[in-house]
Amino acid sequence: GTSLAVLLQSWRRRRAVARLPPRPIELRSDEVVDGVLGLIGNTPLVRIHSLSDALGVEILGKAEFLNPGGSVKDRVALRIIEDAEAQGLLHPHTGSVLFEGTVGSTGISLATVGKAKGYECCIIMPDDVAVEKVQVLEKLGAKVERVRPASIVDEKQFVNLARKRARDFGKVEITEGAARGDDIVVSTQASPAEVTHHVPPPTRQLSMLVNAGFETKPRGFFADQFENESNFQAHYHGTGPEILRQTSGNVDAFVSGAGTGGTIAGTGSYLKKHLPEIRVVLSDPEGSGLFNKVKYNVMFDPKESEGTKRRHQVDTVVEGIGINRITRNFSMGAAAIDDAYRVTDVEAVAMSRYLVDHDGLFLGSSSACNLVACVRLAKRLSKGSRIVTILCDSGSRHQSKFWSDEYLERAGIPIDAELIDKLLAS
Ligand code: PMP
Repeated sequence: GTSLAVLLQSWRRRRAVARLPPRPIELRSDEVVDGVLGLIGNTPLVRIHSLSDALGVEILGKAEFLNPGGSVKDRVALRIIEDAEAQGLLHPHTGSVLFEGTVGSTGISLATVGKAKGYECCIIMPDDVAVEKVQVLEKLGAKVERVRPASIVDEKQFVNLARKRARDFGKVEITEGAARGDDIVVSTQASPAEVTHHVPPPTRQLSMLVNAGFETKPRGFFADQFENESNFQAHYHGTGPEILRQTSGNVDAFVSGAGTGGTIAGTGSYLKKHLPEIRVVLSDPEGSGLFNKVKYNVMFDPKESEGTKRRHQVDTVVEGIGINRITRNFSMGAAAIDDAYRVTDVEAVAMSRYLVDHDGLFLGSSSACNLVACVRLAKRLSKGSRIVTILCDSGSRHQSKFWSDEYLERAGIPIDAELIDKLLAS
């Protein structure tokens, strides 16, 4: 009896899919691009056959792993650097150094864009991040400093340390060339109080000083992906419009995890503005505070001040998403987020293996997490609906943890081969 029911069910699903209207598929352009930066963004949407066919709901993944630095973060690195250049905070080939606190992807993107543009890169990260990210960073010529994981209120926490390193390095001596011998000191991104002027004009705009004939020495720049609004803008003006165009607005939901929050906030806000009916849904790993924030507007115990007891990065095998504080980038788009799903490590691991088996897609942990949330959401939508999600990076960045059977065994995370079939059939 059961096998007949299963057969019937799968036949009905196939019928449901067969009735979907044909979708135009846009191919990636084969134009010649201008250097490695020309390869950033404009990623295709890939239809995930296994999940879409089983659900009767189309699941499309934005193939961000195709960016030259291997992740969605290339967009952010490019925008942060170009916005800083436009503000006169960075000048290529003058020895400027980019500093960032990151679990890896953003560092790799900053190092890539940095090399292409003429900046050195210094990355501070927790020492429990997958080792292959460090290796890639070093191959890209970045300096890597690994520190013990710590709470955000600890000054040795990796983001805080990156800010400090940039500041220490960032004392810039600007020497007036031929006209006078006086020195002035301008510190990068400093508050006005920190700026010491010994000569006129009293300006903090480095570009103006350079144009006025001052000589500059190397300076540090803190990329600050968590708080820097350029992160949000990269998605609001990039990822969002691309998805709208690629789907011709024919999209019912957008699913994304959040680390800095730039992706869900920027993309979500843009899509919501143009498609007010769209559902913007957060996929959140275990231990992250964002799920409760979206569902109940509380992070955790209200008596507990922000990040005091907890690690800023969530303790899960899923890297890059899940966080225990509200960042500037997340808050910029929080109003656009309608709902949240919690995804377990076991589910994300099972999804990643399922996608290799059925689709030949070798994805990273946050992509797998997003796709579990897509399946849950699809069950609540009517047949023929369409969900877009982000495939942030590939599995190759996760070989030593998320994709290591030995690591998972040690961590007590089972690889449950049947879990996704069960989830699809439930
Ligand atoms: N996936 C991966 C692999 C990441 O590294 C990150 C960024 N930390 C994200 C997802 C989350 O993106 P965002 O920072 O835009 O929230």
